[in-house]
Amino acid sequence: MQVKPQLIPLKPYEPGKPIDEVKRELGLEKVIKLASNENPFGCSEKAKEAIRKELNQMHIYPDGYAYEIRQKVAEHLNVNKEQLIFGNGSDEVILILCRALLSPNKNTVMAQPSFSQYKHNALIEGAEIREVPLSNGEHDLDEMLKQIDDNTAIVWVCNPNNPSGNYIDKDRFLTFLKAVPEDVLVVSDEAYHEYVVAPDYPDTISLLNQFPNLMVLRTFSKAYGLASLRIGYGVANEEFIKLLDPARPPFNTSTIAQAAALAALDDQQFIQTCSEKNREGLQQFYSFCDEHNLKYYPSQANFILIDFERSGDEVFQYLLERGYIVRSGIPLGFPTAIRITVGNKEENAEIIDCITEMLEKRDELRS
Ligand SMILES: *Cc1c(COP(=O)(O)O)cnc(C)c1O
Repeated sequence: MQVKPQLIPLKPYEPGKPIDEVKRELGLEKVIKLASNENPFGCSEKAKEAIRKELNQMHIYPDGYAYEIRQKVAEHLNVNKEQLIFGNGSDEVILILCRALLSPNKNTVMAQPSFSQYKHNALIEGAEIREVPLSNGEHDLDEMLKQIDDNTAIVWVCNPNNPSGNYIDKDRFLTFLKAVPEDVLVVSDEAYHEYVVAPDYPDTISLLNQFPNLMVLRTFSKAYGLASLRIGYGVANEEFIKLLDPARPPFNTSTIAQAAALAALDDQQFIQTCSEKNREGLQQFYSFCDEHNLKYYPSQANFILIDFERSGDEVFQYLLERGYIVRSGIPLGFPTAIRITVGNKEENAEIIDCITEMLEKRDELRS
């Protein structure tokens, strides 16, 4: 078949291993997955209740315009409801953006390593990829600016960055935004927004009026705990959203996802609690790393990237065999690290014990 040549070397997205698969393959009874930055506390009870109420609507197509959740998110962010585009996860908004803005004569600028889907979707559209290495885990915004030329259509910033977990502050972001030409779209992917505690994290929503070339991505998959339902959104200038919307597939968010997201937004107490527990969880990992002299990046998200100065695949495999699924840093661009999603207190303590044992074994081998 005549697939686009650029598809031939590509691989489908490699997700964190599913729990059941690991149980089956390794004959384990208990497996803890800390690999995909899912919320260890599930989702709001209000969202579950909303889902149950929709169960007799399953034969009817969803509202493609997503009227009610649109209204709700617009209120929540204090934006106009025509400034929103919903996607089957924010992943789909990334896909729609690439489909709408990229082609073989265009290029797109991004940090490396960062979230894999910017590059993946851009490659499928045949665009040129301009990756700028992170500098000590941070976006090198000056170098990213230098990479922009007349053919640049999209610049991606992942804030906080997946997989390094660190963030771009208000001043740096604003200086960058002012320097980007006004016909180049700047995407601020804020999948972990609800977990951020840094006081100088940019309030990008308040910048949308001033910068018609800015799009903010948010999702219900992470802190809201609705990853399986697939719903996220982009917020931007109304005129741009109008141009983008024809590239969105019809009925791309389900009735259940819309209803659950609506109820979840009403339960900010749940988000607050999860965010606090996440900070406590990060502290468990920080203390552990400090004690063992392991390098890590301070995280504004619900995961931590820890450098073990040995193959990430090896550490991954060691933990997998003992019932912990994490992400090896190798496919993420940090070959000697692993990325661990912050779990609940007990899960964190258990994996920390397991890693401590691994480190002690290595020390024994060395002496
Ligand atoms: C998880 C993640 C997404 C995708 O989330 P969806 O489930 O598709 O909404 C987007 N960007 C980053 C940086 C992520 O980590």
